[in-house]
Amino acid sequence: MKIIVSACLLGDKVKYNGESNKNQELIDFLKDYDVIKVCPEVMGGLPIPRDASEIQNDFVYNKKNINVTEYFNKGALKTLDIVKNENIKVAILKEKSPSCGSNYIYDGTFSNKLISGMGVTSRLLKENNVIILNENNYKEYFEKEK
Ligand code: SF4
Repeated sequence: MKIIVSACLLGDKVKYNGESNKNQELIDFLKDYDVIKVCPEVMGGLPIPRDASEIQNDFVYNKKNINVTEYFNKGALKTLDIVKNENIKVAILKEKSPSCGSNYIYDGTFSNKLISGMGVTSRLLKENNVIILNENNYKEYFEKEK
């Protein structure tokens, strides 16, 4: 089975601050799967490092209050292209990210407050029937699938 996975969870230093969210347990778990790694923000044209961004209503702004929605949308659409071309059914994406979050995102005030919500890419993929998992719940899903 092919699975889309956030590149930062796999150890790529693609986060806004130039770091990764490397998750060794997830990397080990995925060794028998066909993984396609994506970083929608970089795919959308944003640099590494970049200013942190948060969703405010249906737009994405960075910490300098610049509207970066078009980059986020572009990255989401590029990820959707991969989903369609590779017939992807499942994605494991980094929770709390304005692109990849699946249950929680920051509230748009840059004050470290979480609210319920989805990132731009996660939402688009979900609308296209991809099952969106994150680094906290993927095991539960694969246990059930066994
Ligand atoms: Fe990780 Fe997704 Fe953010 Fe890229 S856009 S750094 S893959 S959470």
